[in-house]
Amino acid sequence: MAVKSKAKKPAAKAKASPATKSAAKGTKYVYTWGAGRADGDGSMKPLLGGKGANLAEMTRIGLPVPPGFTVTTEVCTYFYANKKTYPASLQAQMEAGMANMEKIMGTKFGATEGMPLLVAVRSGARDSMPGMMDTILNLGLNDKSVLALSQATKNERFAWDCYRRFIQMYGDVVLGVQKRENEDHEPFETAIHEFKHEVYHADVEDSKLTAADQQELVKRFKALVKERTGKSFPDNPWDQLRGAAGAVFGSWMNDRANVYRRKYNIPTEWGTAVNVQAMVFGNTGDTSGSGVAFTRNPANGTDEFYGEFLINAQGEDVVAGVRTPEPVLKLKDQMPKSYAELLKVRATLEKHFKDVQDIEFTIQEGKLFMLQTRNGKRTAAAALKFSIDMVKEKLIDWQTAILRNPADQLEQLLAPIFDLNEVKKATVIATGLPAGPGAATGKIYFNADRSVQAAEKGEKVLLVRVETSPEDLRGMIAAEGILTARGGVSSHAALVARQMGKVCVCGAAAVHIDYEAKTATIAGQTFKEGDFLSIDGTSGTVYAGQIKTAPSEIIAGLLHGDKAAQATEKFKNYAQLMKWCSQATKLSVRTNADTPEQTQNAIAFGAVGIGLTRTEHMFFEGDRIDAMREMILADSLEARQTALAKLLPYQRDDFFGIFKALKGFPATIRFLDPPLHEFLPHAKEQQADLARKLGIPVEKIMSRVHELHEFNPMLGFRGCRLGIRYPEITAMQARAVFEAAADANKQGFKAKPEIMIPLVGFKKELDLQVELVHSVAKAVQAEKKTKIAYSVGTMIEIPRGALTADEIAETAEFFSFGTNDLTQTCLGMSRDDSGSFLPAYAESEIVKKNPFASIDQTGVGQLMQIAITKGRSKRPDIKLGICGEHGGDPDSVKFCHKIGLSYVSCSPYRVPVARLAAAQAAVSDLMAAKKK
Ligand code: PEP
Ligand code: MG
Repeated sequence: MAVKSKAKKPAAKAKASPATKSAAKGTKYVYTWGAGRADGDGSMKPLLGGKGANLAEMTRIGLPVPPGFTVTTEVCTYFYANKKTYPASLQAQMEAGMANMEKIMGTKFGATEGMPLLVAVRSGARDSMPGMMDTILNLGLNDKSVLALSQATKNERFAWDCYRRFIQMYGDVVLGVQKRENEDHEPFETAIHEFKHEVYHADVEDSKLTAADQQELVKRFKALVKERTGKSFPDNPWDQLRGAAGAVFGSWMNDRANVYRRKYNIPTEWGTAVNVQAMVFGNTGDTSGSGVAFTRNPANGTDEFYGEFLINAQGEDVVAGVRTPEPVLKLKDQMPKSYAELLKVRATLEKHFKDVQDIEFTIQEGKLFMLQTRNGKRTAAAALKFSIDMVKEKLIDWQTAILRNPADQLEQLLAPIFDLNEVKKATVIATGLPAGPGAATGKIYFNADRSVQAAEKGEKVLLVRVETSPEDLRGMIAAEGILTARGGVSSHAALVARQMGKVCVCGAAAVHIDYEAKTATIAGQTFKEGDFLSIDGTSGTVYAGQIKTAPSEIIAGLLHGDKAAQATEKFKNYAQLMKWCSQATKLSVRTNADTPEQTQNAIAFGAVGIGLTRTEHMFFEGDRIDAMREMILADSLEARQTALAKLLPYQRDDFFGIFKALKGFPATIRFLDPPLHEFLPHAKEQQADLARKLGIPVEKIMSRVHELHEFNPMLGFRGCRLGIRYPEITAMQARAVFEAAADANKQGFKAKPEIMIPLVGFKKELDLQVELVHSVAKAVQAEKKTKIAYSVGTMIEIPRGALTADEIAETAEFFSFGTNDLTQTCLGMSRDDSGSFLPAYAESEIVKKNPFASIDQTGVGQLMQIAITKGRSKRPDIKLGICGEHGGDPDSVKFCHKIGLSYVSCSPYRVPVARLAAAQAAVSDLMAAKKK
């Protein structure tokens, strides 16, 4: 029953298969591959899904792939658009695809004599969605063909094992025979468990079950199906196949898939393909097996063949975590010939795909078959090392290396590790596989719901499970880290954790969990839900209690100048990547910083200036708040000026510190923009306290608080409205900036202040404020006998400002988009309380992403583009930036690049992310231009 044909050299052009010809008149819904030929290729992922496209590609490059066909994603779209029905020509095309497979295999689908052709049915979306969609193996079996299979293979046990597995998978996935609310286990698993206890009085391993046992289980499973569904298990192979395809398409909309798509922003419209592939068997005995592997280590990036396999097993057994698999390297001793072949495949795949591959393979009686390849999911640390190493190996160029590091994962590299001294004192209670690097400490919870609830209360959570399944996804998202007792590095927990950047230790066999009692017993100690554990996903270690975390090597090297950290490979690779980013980038990255320390950090991360200093943040510290309150409470100009005089030195010192930390880089300083009432105490005791301090009656404070009360402070007395009403505030701030700049210049730090007036909607507002700033500048320059290089501009953060940007640009020397306020005013959603309905909006796909996190490109983005065009029409060289929170979001950064901003500004720790995203945008442009 081996695949008959030999693999051929890659075909230069797809050769038409029978299915192609049959569809010549209409739309082609079925693409076949096999025997060295394929209708499709690796570039056709949108139509064939990732799995189908790569099976075609592997076939073309001569790898041993069992034949099959892909039903395209267009059929999925059709299915949902047409009340879950199929295009009329589909059946004929599938039959042609099946005939092609039969010809190559020399077997017949549903044959009751000779070797029957069995197929695997798998989903395959454009982007892989691990664990989200369902797979059915051994399809095509019934009471007759199982006998044929048994005879043809002379392996009765194997035949009944396949049949039993098929009914179980099909029953679960297609017929919906699943755990009910009052049940603890899957019904088929319960049936097996009961059978084992009846016959063997113990939980014997599945491999101990005889042919007769499997046959009996088939009977029981079928009865179970009948009992649960009221229908008999389908006998006809084509009914089985249609049912399976329907289930795959149906699973595109299941809860797990929806959650996954939302998290990774995969559009629902993409749909999934269905792959039907001739079965090869890893479960025929001890010369067979199945495995999954990565061409390099996806956890830390090391160039080693990394994965696992199980002898006498089908692929699903490896990832299910039921039996703990062996490292793939051990195949070298157990099946040296297949291992050598695998190593060759490993090299071929990397050379061809120029990226690390995640493969599935089956060895059937000593013969190797490839069932899947895809770009391997990886941690940020692995992505970094892969990309740098592959440039050294000349597999990719440095521009591609930039694209290979997902910008939104980069923060993982900055994530904390355990404090080295603390961890030495901690007790190791178990070890498992290091599946998701990093250090996590938290309260343990044993199910996903309770993890989510605890995380919502602000607790740091570790999700602890025997093994995870896609049902645990929500809990995994909520948790800091994941610990499992069973399963290997390719188990669901490991895959998902890696992708999410979660710390994960899996297969820690010493962890004994009692779900009912909500306890875990580890090394003789019992831990209750809510107790602390700590896990190190880089080494695979589990510790009792809480352990302090310490900064990563990159943080230690960059921010603390730690020499040992700077000598690590990770640090050096990071530095190299960032160097390439600087080479590629067009958009510069500034930071939002209010203190010298934040500024220093951001500069160390590669920021080239400050894009936003929120001056009101400088008043929250120590005694300053009192002077600020005195200013707000003042009821005459004189009184206000007395208070402002107290504030001036504070501000001047702050600005000086910032100029010094900037070492000549520019600083955009935004003048006051808080609703005043935020600064006044609202509690009675605090009001009394302030009255005492300022020597005024408490009633005066109470009445001022009352006066300043606003129904909607976000649209209230803030921004430039403050400076227009009280020009002396603007004057004080301008004086503080210019005096500090003069002092900084004197000491040799070239200060470059850019004064930014907030919340401007009318040109006149800006004119009045700018006039004042210039007059103070003139005065200070004369007093200090120095010249200060400064500019004055505005934020564009309300729609009127954007729409009249041509007028505003007559005065403003620069625009900085305040996309926080621009989003709330454009969308009419408050940035503070829209959290109450935005999740529902995301769920219904009204918004694809939270618009306060990632720019609403069609709405807010349009306002930005209008402002840019209008602004440039009056001032062609106007400097344009963004300082809303979006400045650190990779998609928004790419959008800013596209619309031609000169810089983005974000919080210090997001600077590396923004730099990478900016460089990626530039590289993508370059590559697109080259293609043209
Ligand atoms: C903005 O509105 O985007 C902005 C940066 O200002 P703030 O967040 O301080 O209102
Ligand atoms: Mg704002």
